[in-house]
Amino acid sequence: MRMAMVGTGYVGLVTGVCFANAGNDVACVDIDEGKVERLRAGECPIYEPGLTELMAKNAKAGRLRFTTDAAEAYRDARMIFICVGTPSDDRGHTDLKYIKAAAEDVARASKALGPQQEPKVVVVKSTVPVGTSHQVRDWIREIVGEEIPFHIANNPEFLKEGDAVSDFLKPDRVVCGVESELASEMFKDVYDPFVRNGRPVFMMDVRSSEMVKYASNNFLATKISFINEMANLCEAYGADINSVREGMCADQRIGYQFLYPGLGYGGSCFPKDTQACVMMGDRAGVDMLVSKAVHEVNQRQRERFFQRIIKHFESRGGLADKTLAFWGLAFKPRTDDVREAPALTLVRRALGYGVECRGFDPVAAENAGAEIGPKLTICEDIYEAADGADGVVVSTDWDEFKSPDFERLGSILRHKAIFDGRNLYRRQHLGELGFHYYSVGRDTVEPR
Ligand code: NAD
Repeated sequence: MRMAMVGTGYVGLVTGVCFANAGNDVACVDIDEGKVERLRAGECPIYEPGLTELMAKNAKAGRLRFTTDAAEAYRDARMIFICVGTPSDDRGHTDLKYIKAAAEDVARASKALGPQQEPKVVVVKSTVPVGTSHQVRDWIREIVGEEIPFHIANNPEFLKEGDAVSDFLKPDRVVCGVESELASEMFKDVYDPFVRNGRPVFMMDVRSSEMVKYASNNFLATKISFINEMANLCEAYGADINSVREGMCADQRIGYQFLYPGLGYGGSCFPKDTQACVMMGDRAGVDMLVSKAVHEVNQRQRERFFQRIIKHFESRGGLADKTLAFWGLAFKPRTDDVREAPALTLVRRALGYGVECRGFDPVAAENAGAEIGPKLTICEDIYEAADGADGVVVSTDWDEFKSPDFERLGSILRHKAIFDGRNLYRRQHLGELGFHYYSVGRDTVEPR
């Protein structure tokens, strides 16, 4: 199948590469010339395990190409996947300007071909408020008129950054919003290689398909805010959230996944998708109480953690002029994405107090540096960041932070405090080693 991806971000690039790997002929389009140049040179602009290798393999085989020439790419494609960003504005409304521009590009390319073309299926893969795919259909129709054949469809993406390639190659499920037999058949064809393990491909109406994505992300965000709220209650009553979690999650109706206490969620999806649900509700007169609370709890969680850092230093001359080492800057491990990262919120708050901030992240340091600027000193490893510091803030649960050399750490810190926003360490152990140890939903440990 000849396809085009509109946008080569996390979703467009992974989708394009994985479809090419299944034998399709894929053109990946982006308006960012620098990005396309890097892609053409075989350089992957994002960190995503396994992606660079798969990209190189398929580009070499001639099934995958990168271009800024939208008209040329869309001309030949039977399926066009719109994968551009859908950020939210200050009030939480979804900004559809990239979607509209993409739809107009597709429409102009189709119009130039005239009425004798094979019908294209235009798939909205970006996460969009319910009704947007139909709005895309109308935007295209306004330009191409009634003569040019095309079909609209929706196909939300469920990949997780950090596991995006394996999620795409082995999806739990594929959801397709369709309103024509042609679109339905094309989806079955192109997804068949990925669901041979028996995973379902659900065909449904376009609006329900759009809603599946919001319902899924809001539910996952709810789990995170729920466990964080419970963790806060544990702190207040001297219970241990890790034990509570074990006792609770063994119930098969509950399960263990996505119930980890910490600094709350970040990234480019959960924050905006919970807000978008609230906004969709407002527009329709449905008060989305749970989504509102989930967002509120999430925002408070970072601040609550920061307040504990402030309090620790209150009796030690205050935070100003202290040095903190931030271990982890990405919003979660195995990605270089720092959008809405809790780590960056904490760094900004600390800088506001006159703290010298040092950070280390295995892959997201460059992006974090670009966001924060030179006030954040980027270090080569966790020990360089901690050398002479007054405390370590564990802000992302990268595997390599899980078993540091605590004796070495204790010997290089000026003040032995660990503020663990990801509950990575055993509490008892750290008290014995002379650390002040703060975590989430567990008693604070003082040096023995
Ligand atoms: P992104 O910001 O990483 O990438 C978007 C790309 O689209 C950019 O490279 C941009 O230059 C390009 N672009 C913008 N307008 C264009 C146009 N007219 N033509 C061609 N290219 C254009 O975004 P992302 O993280 O890949 O997210 C894309 C969508 O997928 C969003 O709606 C997001 O909510 C959704 N989504 C994201 C994830 C994720 O983990 N990142 C997962 C599932 C769904």
